[in-house]
Amino acid sequence: MTRNKTLGDLGEAGIIRLMEANAPKELPSHLKKGIGDDCAVLETAGDSVLLVTTDTLIEGIHFTAQTMPPEALGWKALAVNISDIAAMGGAPHTAFLSVGLQADTKVTFLESFMAGFKTLADKTGVVLAGGDTVESPSSAVVTITLLGDCLKERVVYRSGARVGDDVWVTGPLGNAAAGLFLLQNQGLDVSPEYESLVQTHQKPMPPLKLGKALAQSGLVHAMIDISDGIAKDLGHICEQSGVGSELHGSSIPMSSNLLKLAHEVRKSPLQWAFHGGEDYELLFTASSSDKEKIVLLGTKISGTPPTRIGTIIQEGGTWLKTEKGKEPLRPGGYVHF
Ligand SMILES: [Mg+2]
Repeated sequence: MTRNKTLGDLGEAGIIRLMEANAPKELPSHLKKGIGDDCAVLETAGDSVLLVTTDTLIEGIHFTAQTMPPEALGWKALAVNISDIAAMGGAPHTAFLSVGLQADTKVTFLESFMAGFKTLADKTGVVLAGGDTVESPSSAVVTITLLGDCLKERVVYRSGARVGDDVWVTGPLGNAAAGLFLLQNQGLDVSPEYESLVQTHQKPMPPLKLGKALAQSGLVHAMIDISDGIAKDLGHICEQSGVGSELHGSSIPMSSNLLKLAHEVRKSPLQWAFHGGEDYELLFTASSSDKEKIVLLGTKISGTPPTRIGTIIQEGGTWLKTEKGKEPLRPGGYVHF
């Protein structure tokens, strides 16, 4: 029966389950968290834990020559990993970079790629410590493995959300998806003010300092980065915490440029905000009694407060509440396989 089944039949979740079946059910003592969070968490001899994450970008799936110039690609390949370290409340420090490229790729491509990588690495205190280089028969492939650390007692997992918690997001949603739309429709006659949307898609800057400050405050119960779209990413928090969530449709933060562009090209801004993904903001939950403290902390660290967009509830699933009523918000982000 399974003989003719393909990975496409299995889907991404099925593939992860198949791999997970080969990981230990009971974790060895050096591993505090294995598969299933933004990073794996490894014990060290000191007060800190080691955070490990890895992400791959593939030409034709995550980017094309049209959507990502090489300098932006180098930046983004590192940024998506930094985002996972931020989501645990950690600080990144060591990167391993592996690339698969065609032999006829121009040297200037790799030079620009490395310049983008290094600019972000220098900004965030990350050092390149190794990797692998291979020839690829067609598409470019970039994999980065990133290590970071965090005080053992302060790591924030996806599994800590409690019924009654507020759901927060650190910044506006949908900008990256709107930027991608612009890059894929370059014939469009749109105004130059939308450059910030393109910038969010090409060179996202994860709120690393804020993630760390939120974790260190001890106020945050669960956290994840927004890579696949809020519908899917909030779903992960709910699943791992054994709870559900209700989003308040009118409080989703969206930039004025996003709203303006959506109107101009007749797209749904909420569709971009919920399902676009790649915003690399942080989504977290905290006690509703700590509202003011969260606002103060966010304002102190990043100048603007995070936005409260919903509530953790007992009933499973992710729900969207609008003036029209309550409806299920199904994950609609990018589906691999
Ligand atoms: Mg993540």
